[in-house]
Amino acid sequence: MPNLRRLFAPRKSGNSEFPLRLMDIFWVALAGGLAVGGIARLVMLPADWGWVDALLVAVALPGADFVSGMIHWTFDTWGSERTWFIGPRLIKPFRVHHEKPKNLLETHFFTTNADSSLANLPFLIASLCMPVQYEAGRWAAVFLLTLGIAGLPTSQIHKWAHMRRPPRWVAWLQRRGLILSTPHHDQHHRPPHTVNYCITTGWCNPLLGKIRFFPRLERLITAVTGWQPRKDEADAPTATV
Ligand SMILES: [Zn+2]
Ligand SMILES: [Zn+2]
Repeated sequence: MPNLRRLFAPRKSGNSEFPLRLMDIFWVALAGGLAVGGIARLVMLPADWGWVDALLVAVALPGADFVSGMIHWTFDTWGSERTWFIGPRLIKPFRVHHEKPKNLLETHFFTTNADSSLANLPFLIASLCMPVQYEAGRWAAVFLLTLGIAGLPTSQIHKWAHMRRPPRWVAWLQRRGLILSTPHHDQHHRPPHTVNYCITTGWCNPLLGKIRFFPRLERLITAVTGWQPRKDEADAPTATV
């Protein structure tokens, strides 16, 4: 018997203060439904599957990891907890996570997974909009659907990377580098929290670190807009060290 009071209780403050647990369930169910619908639509196609489809799947898997890194970097780096709507809803949880990483372990399944479900809805919906009767449309659908599905468990995988004792099958996947591992993600949790932003598999992090992708992107954005990365932290008298 599920604990209904816990299921519908507001989120704990300190992790996120957006009190819509029902909406969290809705986003997870919607993303899951779209993913299943997208797979069924492609499986039923009378198509000649070939190497291009396989290649697109192979590119979309690290692509989902890259998307997770871009989202994480954006909310770690720009804006503040007071930024309209996305400040308390998205920026604050990322920054509080640096100060209190173990809070993540206390969140409900739907709370954990709602944000990644929401973030991947555009890919899942776009995939369903592709005209799959044409080969190019099918290729686009395969790529977008793989990207969307591979990104869905991002928050859950991130949560497992913080567990001292994750489930055994999860630990197996972590050891083989198939999903984000604890030692790999620990590097992001060392101040100033500016490496290893990708949190789905972590596959993109070595390359992005080697080419200094995020520092260069920050310098470009500062040159164009004048914005300063992590300005909120620099301004805060009690910034985390
Ligand atoms: Zn971070
Ligand atoms: Zn973390």
